[in-house]
Amino acid sequence: MSEENVKLLGVVGAGQMGSGIAQVAAERGLPVLLCDVTRELAERGRKRIADQLDKLVHKGKITAEQRDATLGRISPCGSLEALSECDFVIEAASENQELKQQIFCDLDRLVRRDAVLASNTSSISITLLGAQTKRPEQVIGMHFMNPVPLMQLVEVIRGLCTDEATYQRTLALGRALGKEMITARDMPGFIVNRVLIPFLNEACFALQEGLGTVEDIDKGIRLGLNHKMGPFELSDLIGLDTVLAIAEVLHRQLGDDKYRPAPLLRQYVAAGYLGRKSGRGFYTY
Ligand code: NAD
Repeated sequence: MSEENVKLLGVVGAGQMGSGIAQVAAERGLPVLLCDVTRELAERGRKRIADQLDKLVHKGKITAEQRDATLGRISPCGSLEALSECDFVIEAASENQELKQQIFCDLDRLVRRDAVLASNTSSISITLLGAQTKRPEQVIGMHFMNPVPLMQLVEVIRGLCTDEATYQRTLALGRALGKEMITARDMPGFIVNRVLIPFLNEACFALQEGLGTVEDIDKGIRLGLNHKMGPFELSDLIGLDTVLAIAEVLHRQLGDDKYRPAPLLRQYVAAGYLGRKSGRGFYTY
C-alpha cells in the first residue's frame, strides 16, 4: 500500500503532540479529524495550530492562503465515534497505560476494520495495546518527536503481532509526512527514550544533590556536550509528568533500580510544575 492510501487521518489527543501531528499531516494535504475528550479541548488544539501557522505567516514562511488551507483540513471532534471512516489513526493521548488500553479497545470497535491503529506512546508496550484489539496485526508504534513540525525523526515500533503490510503502510505515511524513520524493537522506551529518560532523570538527581544550579547544569550540557538544549529545558518542553510517566515505565518494566525516578522529579509533578504547558517547571514561563 502506498501513501496515497491514507485518505483520512484520525488523531486522538489534541495536546502538544497530537496537534503537532495534525498540523504536519494537514500541511501535507491530508484531511485530519483531531479528537480529544471534549470538542472544546479539540478546538483548543486546533487553535494552537492556528497560532503556530500565524507565526509562520508573520515570518513569511507560508502565505495566509496556505495557513487557511491547512486549517481547513483539520476538523476538531469530541468523541472517538467520529473517527469511524479514518483509514489510519494515530493515538497521542496522555501517557497513561489504562487510558491508552481503553482507547485502543474503543478504536477497535469504532474504526473501520482495515484501518491501522498507531500509538505515539513514548514507552508503553505496542504489543499490549494491540492485545486490546481484534486486529493486533494492524497496531503499531509511530513515535514522533517534540515539536513535531520541527523534528525530523519518527521511531516506528513493531509489536509482536504487527504484520509487514501495517509496517509498510506506516513507513509510507511517515515518508508522506516528510519524516526520517528508524525502527525499534517493542521494549520499554524503545530507542530514543531508553537513552534520553535516564539522562534527564540523572540531571534531576544532580540538582537534588546540589551539584549545580538548574542554569549551570543546563549550560554544562549545552556547551560541554554540544546539545541544543540542557536537560531541564528539554524536560520543561516534554512535560515533567510525561518524563515521570516514562521513567516509571522503564523502572517497572525493566526491573532495575537504576531507572528509579528522582524524588525531586516526583515532587515537581506533585506541585503541578509540569514545564512549559503549565507555565512553570524547572524554569518559569
Ligand atoms: P499533552 O498532555 O499535551 O496532551 C494529551 C492530550 O490527550 C490532552 O489534550 C488530553 O485531554 C488528551 N486525552 C486524554 N485522554 C483522552 C481520551 N480518552 N481521548 C482523547 N484525548 C484524550 O501530552 P503530549 O505531550 O501531547 O503527549 C501525548 C503522547 O505523546 C503521550 O503518549 C506522550 O508520551 C507522547 N509523546 C510526548 C512527547 C513530548 O515531548 N511531550 C514526545 C513524544 C511522544
